[in-house]
Amino acid sequence: ERMVSGESIPEEEVMEGSIRPQKLAEYIGQEQVKENLSVFIEAAKQRQEPLDHVLLYGPPGLGKTTLSMIIANEMGVNIRTTSGPAIERPGDLAAVLTALEAGDVLFIDEIHRLNRHVEEVLYPAMEDFCLDIVLGKGDTAHSVRLDLPPFTLIGATTRAGYLSPPLRDRFGVVSRLQYYTTEELAFIVKRTAQVLCAPIEDEAAYEIARRARGTPRIANRLLRRIRDFAQVTNDGVINQIVTREALKRLQVDERGLDHIDHQLLRGIIEKFNGGPVGLDTIAATIGEERHTIEDVYEPYLLQIGFIQRTPRGRMATAAVYEHFNIERPEGHV
Ligand code: ATP
Repeated sequence: ERMVSGESIPEEEVMEGSIRPQKLAEYIGQEQVKENLSVFIEAAKQRQEPLDHVLLYGPPGLGKTTLSMIIANEMGVNIRTTSGPAIERPGDLAAVLTALEAGDVLFIDEIHRLNRHVEEVLYPAMEDFCLDIVLGKGDTAHSVRLDLPPFTLIGATTRAGYLSPPLRDRFGVVSRLQYYTTEELAFIVKRTAQVLCAPIEDEAAYEIARRARGTPRIANRLLRRIRDFAQVTNDGVINQIVTREALKRLQVDERGLDHIDHQLLRGIIEKFNGGPVGLDTIAATIGEERHTIEDVYEPYLLQIGFIQRTPRGRMATAAVYEHFNIERPEGHV
């Protein structure tokens, strides 16, 4: 398991329940998204209607699931959770939809992974709150329309671009979650530490925040591991010294990069003179698939300006040379 991956791991999900904020006001950061949502929630409540369908997109671990639970909570309704890959057939979706109560939130994670047949059932459900069911086969086949209770669909995806246009168009609210600032992450770390009854010093919270790749899930994960070190070596007190020592052992560097990032960046520097080098070549060099690099490794490196995309391939920027304390080759820009 990668310490610095934004993806969730099953063992963590059990713990996440207790550290998830419950109210919009407790949800840190994403100010623009929160502001808009609070207006839409208020307006829907005043009209006594369900909230419009919401699409949340952004890298993993930024709080899409958390925000969806908060929306349901603020609306005062139940939330049912499922995911794109879990709904294999139209019948699976019909079962989920018919079990909803009026106003409920249906949360579909990884919504870009719904197959086309399932998507087609979703269109009338989203638009007119009804299901068109085909009964019988061949000549005797006929369709019946079934009314559904009005509901709010919240779809989450790491890539809005993967969504089919007809599905995307059916969301009234489309919000993109951003990477968090160090201050916001430090706040989240302190809040989680409080929930876990783990004493933490300010500098330590900031140290964790700086290395959490803009991602609350990573910040919370690092905190839990550092807490173990603090418990064994420092009477449980999480200070900066313990934090730095623990992160060294966990092989997470000052910018939150791990050995895979190092391999990737050093590969571009050492084997390709800093680039540009094609994605497929990078993939072959580090033994990973192209789309894994694009979806998992690269976004954060692009975000912090360590990698630049050019028409001829990826380039390692001057910041990478600085980070590794390596002199730039002649002609590198
Ligand atoms: P995935 O893409 O895997 O579905 P996600 O974006 O839905 O991930 P969440 O599970 O909602 O991520 O959040 C990950 C963790 O980060 C949770 O433990 C949650 O408590 C915490 N978290 C996320 N966003 C915030 C926030 N704004 N304030 C405080 N804690 C947060």
